[in-house]
Amino acid sequence: MQIENLINKTDFTSAEIAYLLQLKSEEEKNFLFTKAEQLEKRFFYSPINSYGLIEISTYCSENCDYCRLRKDNTSIKRSRMNREQIIEIAKEINKSGIKSIVIRSGYDDFYNEDRISYIIYSIKKYADVEIILSLGERTFEEYKGWRIAGATGYRLRFKSSNPNIYSSLNCFGTFESRVEHIKQLKSLGYKVCSGSLVGLPSQTFEDVAEDIQFCKELDLDIIEFLPFCPQNNTPFQYVSQWNDEQIKLTMAVARLVLREKNRCSKPRYLFSLEDYRLN
Ligand code: SF4
Repeated sequence: MQIENLINKTDFTSAEIAYLLQLKSEEEKNFLFTKAEQLEKRFFYSPINSYGLIEISTYCSENCDYCRLRKDNTSIKRSRMNREQIIEIAKEINKSGIKSIVIRSGYDDFYNEDRISYIIYSIKKYADVEIILSLGERTFEEYKGWRIAGATGYRLRFKSSNPNIYSSLNCFGTFESRVEHIKQLKSLGYKVCSGSLVGLPSQTFEDVAEDIQFCKELDLDIIEFLPFCPQNNTPFQYVSQWNDEQIKLTMAVARLVLREKNRCSKPRYLFSLEDYRLN
């Protein structure tokens, strides 16, 4: 099929998506980038959605092989914010005009249902903001309690739609349980943000094509594809990553297939105790 015909489709097979992910000709890639940009302009008034990200803890009881916050990494200094610090930072973010705040942590039991509920209530009392949580897989009761407290969004990446790749990452639970949690969050009325990591070891273009299709199947509200980036002192530190051009192509193909589905941009404000991680 001619590239012009293919990129003008509105429904794609996984094979077609995998084909687009492997385009080599500069001319064909430019067709695709132009089309993706047009869709972006058509569906989104502004290409930038700012949010404030508060990284409340660098403790984690899990051991994901790609993440430098994994518990076996003894080379980093761990710390966590207290409730008052988090609430104050949220107020500051709100004062700057940002209306959306992400509260993020690894698996840190210190932040139980009551503590997070208190933080949500307190922020909502003082600031007109949307609160999105990114606290990993938790119990249904915790999700429910935080929803009642005022959180409206939850970020839980499915990481890979291939269960074998998921289990090879040494992450919490199974692929099936992760999907079940995403469904629980949807059932509670959360705006759910999810997506996969791209460029993982042993991941093929066909896997990434399935990831893009899976975002449609889950009917996500916000979609994030995160480029895998090897981090020091992790089992994946010497694994090579995809180059920028391949990442750009992947994002353009995702826009082509997912069309009006929303996606997160980079945060405008980042309050982090440690540097970048891939949760
Ligand atoms: S990805 Fe999340 S759960 Fe896994 S080690 Fe890192 S912080 Fe912990």
